[in-house]
Amino acid sequence: MTEQQSQKTEHIFRGVQVSPGIARGVIYLYGPQEEPAEKTVVAAEDVPKEFTRFEQALIKTRQQLTEIPTHFGKELGSESASIFDAHLLVLDDPMLTEQVFRRLEAEKINVEWILQEVADLYFQVLSKVEDSYLRERAADVRDVARRIMRNLRGEHREDLQHLPGPRIVVAQDLSPSDTALMDRTKVLGFATDAGSRTSHTAIIARSQGVPAVVAMHDVSQQVATGDEALLDGYSGLLIINPTQSTLYEYGQIEIRHHTVEERLALLREKPAQTRDGRRIELAANIEFPDEAASARDHGAEGIGLYRTEFLFLNRRDLPGEDEQFAAYQNVAKVMSPHPVIIRTIDIGGDKLFSPGHGQAERNPFLGWRGVRFSLDRPDVFKLQIRAALRAGAEGNIKLMYPMISCLSELERAAALLNECKDELRREGRAFNDKMEVGAMVEVPSAALVAEQLAGHVNFFSIGTNDLIQYTLAVDRVNERVAHLYAPTFPAVLRLIKMVVDAARAHKIWVGVCGEMAGDPLLVPLLLGLGADELSMSAVSLPLVKFVVRAMNLSDAQALADRALRSQSPGEVQGWLEDYVRSIAPEVVELVKPKQSATP
Ligand code: PEP
Ligand code: MG
Repeated sequence: MTEQQSQKTEHIFRGVQVSPGIARGVIYLYGPQEEPAEKTVVAAEDVPKEFTRFEQALIKTRQQLTEIPTHFGKELGSESASIFDAHLLVLDDPMLTEQVFRRLEAEKINVEWILQEVADLYFQVLSKVEDSYLRERAADVRDVARRIMRNLRGEHREDLQHLPGPRIVVAQDLSPSDTALMDRTKVLGFATDAGSRTSHTAIIARSQGVPAVVAMHDVSQQVATGDEALLDGYSGLLIINPTQSTLYEYGQIEIRHHTVEERLALLREKPAQTRDGRRIELAANIEFPDEAASARDHGAEGIGLYRTEFLFLNRRDLPGEDEQFAAYQNVAKVMSPHPVIIRTIDIGGDKLFSPGHGQAERNPFLGWRGVRFSLDRPDVFKLQIRAALRAGAEGNIKLMYPMISCLSELERAAALLNECKDELRREGRAFNDKMEVGAMVEVPSAALVAEQLAGHVNFFSIGTNDLIQYTLAVDRVNERVAHLYAPTFPAVLRLIKMVVDAARAHKIWVGVCGEMAGDPLLVPLLLGLGADELSMSAVSLPLVKFVVRAMNLSDAQALADRALRSQSPGEVQGWLEDYVRSIAPEVVELVKPKQSATP
């Protein structure tokens, strides 16, 4: 640290820790949406200068659009780079640029304002046309105009996939698409004003082992690009200008965590078995095929949830059957002989297609998402089912449908599955005719009729992230109501119990793949309620195994019985903490945020 830095005052911002780890480095502020341009009159003799500024911004924009895909293609597959090709087409189309030049000449207004006017008009017109191809171009026009605007203003806002070096990213909010695109080799960690533990942005951070803190109020307005910072993903802190003593303290914390990790790593080959002999399956959740290796290295006995929709984000085209087949086959190979559960796409909610693919919804979590989308688009759904069936010919693959709310949806999905099998049979392709199929139970109505659904599937996986959201009517990504999002709410626990009872009655297994499954304090509760499998971010797995091996199922069952009769989520949380402290005190110390470092 330089002398100048050591004189700066240390500032501590507190939020909610969603992905463990400590990052030290320089802040990169990922900007909010641009301010609208103001209208100013330009003197006649200054109009040529506005022409030149616009021309230079166009040159810069072209340069960026040709350079980014080179990097982008390497990181994510060249198909994603097609977005940039589409943007280049817009830039080459004189429609936009000539209008700006013409109006500049005629109206003598600053070029930012004219560009905004022209682009808005095109966006409005294009987004209303019937033709879906042209509608998609509306978003391209808007994106290109934004890029030109940034260049006109001389803003050096890099994209997250194109960071200047290793950085701690601070933003108002990050969408799952932003997070999916970010250059994982350069993002040291991130902190956001908004967000919650079960937002997909947080989930991706955990899967990728990137420390992250969310719900930091207005931190993005309090820090600047270039600030020295330390991000504490264990306790939910962002410390700007950390002092020497803070850095020393964190050095010690890291040593302690490494020691624990080394101890946990010794459990890798040991079974997840309770003291009284109950064997539990511990699996990992992944979003990208390349996370399978980390899942295996953390000791996962399978992929309990592969969120395949991430193959569909940040691109204009849809992934074809062969591309999906290759991705599923890859994951199955890495995890072999363990199973891989392909969750069919759960697009919608907070995970949206690229702009232009469909209309914004008022209540996206209650809208066209999950299996509803798939059943309405059998063309897309069948490609995915066929790819999974084919990958199942050699790999241990199971299929699972998200957002099932009633039996008829399961029946319609089963009919399409049969159609796909018939087609593959006719085409003489190898596939797994006996592929196991499961339903996610994440909508309260599905839990209430689990008894009806159980006879039609091979397994259930309880998606507690959504189940809690829908049962308690608490938006899972809204930090203002995050305090109401209580996994231990007895209403939620009773629904989980109904699902387990239905599974038992039909002799099928039941897992939990929501974030509850990766919380070591909640593990005794889920096992006490009767879960057979827990699937979580790979990084959570060692600690969960530690708890499983320290606990008794009989204690957990007694605890779960009490919890089902409780009236208060806080009370249940307290019992769980006391229980885990009694069997594994070090775990409670590790997962409870540090209290001393209040700002
Ligand atoms: C869930 O809802 O609990 C779940 C696992 O699915 P997702 O988080 O992708 O909605
Ligand atoms: Mg869900």
